[in-house]
Amino acid sequence: MPQPSVNECSLLPHNHYWITSKRIVTPKGIISGAVEINGGNIVSVVGEEDWRRNPSSGQVRDYGEAVIMPGLIDVHAHLDDPGRTEWEGFPSGTRAAAAGGLTTLIDMPLNSFPSTVSEETFKLKLEAAEGRIYVDVGFWGGLVPENAFNASALEGLLRAGVLGLKSFMCPSGINDFPMTNASHIKEGLSILSKYRRPLLVHAEIKQELEGYLTLEDSTESARSYSTYVKTRPASWEEAAIRELLTVTKDTRTGGPAEGAHLHIVHLSDARCSLDLIKEAKSRGDSVTVETCPHYLAFSAEEIQDGDTRFKCAPPIRDAANREKLWEALTDGHIDMLSSDHSPTVPELKLFGTGDFLRAWGGISSLQFVLPVTWSYGHKYGLTLEQLVSWWSEKPAKLAGLNLKGAIAIGYYADIVVWEPEVEFDLNDNHPIYLKHPSISAYLGSRLSGKVLATFVRGNLVYEEGKHAPAACGVPILAR
Ligand SMILES: [Zn+2]
Repeated sequence: MPQPSVNECSLLPHNHYWITSKRIVTPKGIISGAVEINGGNIVSVVGEEDWRRNPSSGQVRDYGEAVIMPGLIDVHAHLDDPGRTEWEGFPSGTRAAAAGGLTTLIDMPLNSFPSTVSEETFKLKLEAAEGRIYVDVGFWGGLVPENAFNASALEGLLRAGVLGLKSFMCPSGINDFPMTNASHIKEGLSILSKYRRPLLVHAEIKQELEGYLTLEDSTESARSYSTYVKTRPASWEEAAIRELLTVTKDTRTGGPAEGAHLHIVHLSDARCSLDLIKEAKSRGDSVTVETCPHYLAFSAEEIQDGDTRFKCAPPIRDAANREKLWEALTDGHIDMLSSDHSPTVPELKLFGTGDFLRAWGGISSLQFVLPVTWSYGHKYGLTLEQLVSWWSEKPAKLAGLNLKGAIAIGYYADIVVWEPEVEFDLNDNHPIYLKHPSISAYLGSRLSGKVLATFVRGNLVYEEGKHAPAACGVPILAR
């Protein structure tokens, strides 16, 4: 018999096999049984009885009590490739994703260089991804003033395959990614409606601050997180969302931008801003909203002076706000979660001075979002079905990924196998595949939920601390 040829894309030598477990999260509930995978797709899902009556004689991997669920889809990751690979890059970012049970990432159009704002710059992005991604990666394009009123440029970018667009209502922190106003956004939505793709918006608008807090403040107060929070109050989010909702009415059925969709990224303010979003949804605007694990895990009160690992925008707010975010998530008013993984080099975090006003804003989290969500969600009664809804099903829908986000026949075999009950300390002994482990805000936490194995399109890309040798993730292009 000839030896099976070693498939570099997978830690398994075969592409037709079964995985079994007592806890498989399917759209029809959690079942005990087996999932059959062939050629990268899920070809059958059977319950325990059927499996016992008619077990397969082929390759079977029994995962016992571990949970089998759809791989996580992160619609908001900054991989900084090309151009700022010293910050992260496709190889380390996607290896970290695989180790964390994420099977698809949608890469943001900024923090790489150049920003992805045209067909030409998107081509550079695709070239950079080629042969260097360990999980599937899709891409958002940028909506910026330069292309907003240039329909042919914007359509060129959309036709090249970006899954949708992203824009900022405040300075992005990146020079070649300037901010947009409501008229740019209105224009963008009208073009997106033809393609039925979403616009993602960073919703903060700079407001006049009350009498204090400029960059000239003493370094003493700049070390305090509360100083930073005061420089970006919830009123910035509220003002942006109020303005956005003057254009989202176009997305209603029969409206001029019907078919377009507006998605508000990383909501932090669970008070007025959230009320406005609820209002827009109830009147039929096509709007969704995400929040991120760091807003659900941390509160402003707990952040130590000078610990700039926790700096992000919008900022992490008070503990009472965090409670409201959890409430909104479990009530379905917040639709989904994303990492907003936004790393940089440790030097730009300014750990020496701990200056919150000058340090790079962005939280590094990608590899840990599953155990973080699970661990911090425990006290809110988080279920496995909710996890799948927030991290797989709804993100797949937003990004237009029809065959991802569920364990169901015909879907890609994008799967995470994990043990929710197993605890671990996230310290220097833990294998972290991100480029700069030291900048992660989660370092030092005790978490629950260990990833055993990750499959992408049927390839076992990660198992027990080992990655498949080759980077066989697929760049996802919209058609
Ligand atoms: Zn971001």
